[in-house]
Amino acid sequence: MSADDTTRQQTTHEENRKSRILIIEDNEQNLYLITFILQQHGHEVFQARDGREGIRLAAQLEPDLILLDIQLPEIDGYAVARELRSNPQLDAVPIVAVTSYAMLGDRERILAEGCTGYIEKPINPDTFLTQIFESVRNPRAGVSRSTARTAQSHRTPEVDNDQDSDR
Ligand code: MN
Repeated sequence: MSADDTTRQQTTHEENRKSRILIIEDNEQNLYLITFILQQHGHEVFQARDGREGIRLAAQLEPDLILLDIQLPEIDGYAVARELRSNPQLDAVPIVAVTSYAMLGDRERILAEGCTGYIEKPINPDTFLTQIFESVRNPRAGVSRSTARTAQSHRTPEVDNDQDSDR
């Protein structure tokens, strides 16, 4: 992955900047993958496995970016986003939702709760960084899909096994 990935690295200022990024995600595989991708590009990563921990860490760390899973136990991502946006300290911090195909019907709600944008799971390691920075550059522009999934028909949601494993 790394050799191929090097050729894919973007060279824009934003994407070369090293950021402090908080990931709020309860799925260990996704958490591992996102952490790996971000650390590989030199970003400093902080992890929260539930919404309350995420809210606590966000206030404590004031990160440069928050990646937010929507399907979380106890407090879902909508409530987390709402809470984060009620904290004036975190006003300027982009929140990018990372959400499963099944939740995309709620994209208006994701934005209404204050998220900057959203990325569709499953995560494509080759395009994930680009998707994040596209979302940050074009707030509330809409769904950012991986190139791999763009070609897929939306009539075949069964290819996305994340719905069951997400929680
Ligand atoms: Mn989840």
